Amino acid sequence: MFEKIIQLNGREKGTISIVLVGVHGDEKCGVEALEKILPNLEIERGTVLFGYGNPRAIETNKRYTEVNLNRMFNRNEQFTTSEKESYEYGRAQFLKNYLNEAEALLDIHASSIPNSKAFAICEANAKEIVKFFPINLVVSGFDKVEPGGTDYYMNSIGKVGICLECGYMKDPQSIKIAEESVFAFLKARGHIKNNLIPQKQAYVRMFKKYFAKTDKFTLSKLFENFEVLKENQLIGIDGQEEVKTSKQSLILFAHKGTKVGDEVFLLGEEKESLV
Ligand SMILES: [Zn+2]
Repeated sequence: MFEKIIQLNGREKGTISIVLVGVHGDEKCGVEALEKILPNLEIERGTVLFGYGNPRAIETNKRYTEVNLNRMFNRNEQFTTSEKESYEYGRAQFLKNYLNEAEALLDIHASSIPNSKAFAICEANAKEIVKFFPINLVVSGFDKVEPGGTDYYMNSIGKVGICLECGYMKDPQSIKIAEESVFAFLKARGHIKNNLIPQKQAYVRMFKKYFAKTDKFTLSKLFENFEVLKENQLIGIDGQEEVKTSKQSLILFAHKGTKVGDEVFLLGEEKESLV
């Protein structure tokens, strides 16, 4: 039931935008937000596409079925044969047809870490859109440290890609943030009348992603998203090796690793503006 892309057209001509939800099937806030929004939504100008990223994972309430869909938008030479045979790879090819049509994307996610705050992931090209989002943190630099997501794909073809993290996936507030952000996106993109004022937002730029070198990476403690770490602070143990910060940093998405190459944390730093 989540296979098809929904297309809404305005009476007036305008640009094309796309909203994706459920690219990670267990992050339900976007799916639930669309359930509330779509029955009564009227687009005034242009065209808006709404899509459910990973239908099979949404139906089974899993992050993904075979491989992480949000890494399947990388350049094709990056993938192994088995990745190319996966359901998610095929779904990414299907979704790309619609991403190629649109000029801007909003892709809605949530975090598995309790108490996570909401934030947007984008590059400077999304400045005039995200400033209206109901969030106070905008994070850039992902295209470099973590390529392969939907937002990366849009930026790589000269479009605008925005990924929105709506906070903890089991917090009902995440649905409200998703819902308000869809409207903010549609307004900022000119599809409906914009009555919003820009939000006060802080900026973080990610500079590093750490991949486990062994099959046993353990964290020194549980880290909250954007927790501030001092220079030379112990983050975790990779096999026998201590992994520490090289400078004061903010940590994101920290978790243990059980395979060589597992993505176990990201580091960023505060910035004055979206760069
Ligand atoms: Zn996600």
